[in-house]
Amino acid sequence: MFRKVRRIYQVVFFALFLFLVFATTASLIGGYPVEWFLAIDPLVALSAGLASREIHPLLLMSVPIIIITLIFGRFFCGWLCPFGTIHHACSFVAKKRRVSDRIKINNPRKIFKLKYFILLALLAMALLGSNQIGWLDPIAFTWRAMSTALIPALDNLAWGVYQGERHFHASSIIAFLFVVAISLNFIIPRLYCRLLCPLGALLGLLSRFSLFRLHRNLDLCNNCNVCGADCAGAAQPQDKLRVNECLLCLNCIEACPRGGIKYGFLSSSPTTTTDVINLGRRRSLAALALGVTAVPLLRASDGVNPRANPKRIRPPGACSEEEFLEKCIKCGACMKVCPTGGLQPAFEQAGIEGLWTPVLIARLGYCEQQCALCGEICPTSAIRYISLAEKLGLPPYTEPIRIGSASIDRGRCLPWANETQCIVCEEVCPTSPKAIHYKVVTIQARNGKDRTLKQPYIDLTKCVGCGICETHCPVADEAAIRVTSVGESRSRTNRVIITGGKL
Ligand code: SF4
Ligand code: SF4
Ligand code: SF4
Repeated sequence: MFRKVRRIYQVVFFALFLFLVFATTASLIGGYPVEWFLAIDPLVALSAGLASREIHPLLLMSVPIIIITLIFGRFFCGWLCPFGTIHHACSFVAKKRRVSDRIKINNPRKIFKLKYFILLALLAMALLGSNQIGWLDPIAFTWRAMSTALIPALDNLAWGVYQGERHFHASSIIAFLFVVAISLNFIIPRLYCRLLCPLGALLGLLSRFSLFRLHRNLDLCNNCNVCGADCAGAAQPQDKLRVNECLLCLNCIEACPRGGIKYGFLSSSPTTTTDVINLGRRRSLAALALGVTAVPLLRASDGVNPRANPKRIRPPGACSEEEFLEKCIKCGACMKVCPTGGLQPAFEQAGIEGLWTPVLIARLGYCEQQCALCGEICPTSAIRYISLAEKLGLPPYTEPIRIGSASIDRGRCLPWANETQCIVCEEVCPTSPKAIHYKVVTIQARNGKDRTLKQPYIDLTKCVGCGICETHCPVADEAAIRVTSVGESRSRTNRVIITGGKL
């Protein structure tokens, strides 16, 4: 009975998760709380809070999960987590048949403490302003894989009926890591949860104080050990149940033929333990030190750099780069909702620290003038909410939000370099007045005849860096007009003219 109820919850919450991810498109999003799963994740709140020293009000939705864990234990892992449900289903498929084998494979191992050290290292990094939990946090991990790899792959197979054909930069690596995480279940059931998951570790720490726990009634138990055969968390219910490893799958209650396992209010029992949480002072300090040293090492690459990477074009409303890296959890929700497919997971554009954070790759898609959805959906306000009036600089705002600036490559531009007519960029430029204008010139063509051409110029005081000109430029491969991050509103240093001025 317990197992059935738990499975119903898992299916319902997984279906809800899928629904919310699928509803994250420009045409479907209206009214659905699509960022809900990210908002109830206590690790997202903790890590973003530590890194940015502020808590986005939306993330307070994680407080009930914390309270319920303190009362009932790690129910989130066993009942709600969508990534956990995928692991649960895969480990069920990969299950060994013999009970003795299953008991053996579910034995706890010292290496399972690794997730607590990972958590410590990631929190130490967050304290120094580098929010890297998105690498392993299960909700961000699943969101990212769904948004940028799995759903686009399926959609492309189905001729783009859902969101149109989409391609995400280096998403095969994201897909590969997802497949590896899932494949771990074929070695040991729910190995990701037992070994790597930092959210599981956090909830494990909290569940140490839980008021309700599973315990064994020694009067009824005949030590047959069968309760350990399907334990999802390697909590070893047949011996001393490790409270912080227990995912509350309740398989042990169902497995016991003598009804010897109970779930109830309990402060301590000889059949339960929280000892596994004793990580050792030296190892904990080593994990913290690893996190602390990782930040300057990561920043030795070009993450937060006064000389910004020209290709690091952040969406409108993005915070300053430092604040952005404090808040962004690399969930990919903004990329999923972007109607043009231009928002992409950064690979080389933002350093290792900014890996998988959103950047605009204008050759793939532009920033639509009448859209501010990425700021609406971002659960941590790494991209803050902006109204269309603010984006476009309409009253009461005086300036539009610029995400970069375009420049013309005269060696590739058709009228400049190839004596060929083209005014595509001028036609598509959405600003008013247009940031691209042209001058009519008459040149002597190679055949000696006069030829009249319209050669484009850019007015940088009008350009907002939306990139539509680069997207539509008819010159194949590298466009003849390209957008870079220079002039972005969010930075006071990334200016065209370094020493000052409006640009
Ligand atoms: S505001 Fe621009 S970058 Fe953001 S989702 Fe809309 S089109 Fe994409
Ligand atoms: S900026 Fe995008 S990837 Fe980063 S937290 Fe916000 S929605 Fe997620
Ligand atoms: S990026 Fe191109 S299309 Fe967009 S405002 Fe600038 S010039 Fe116009």
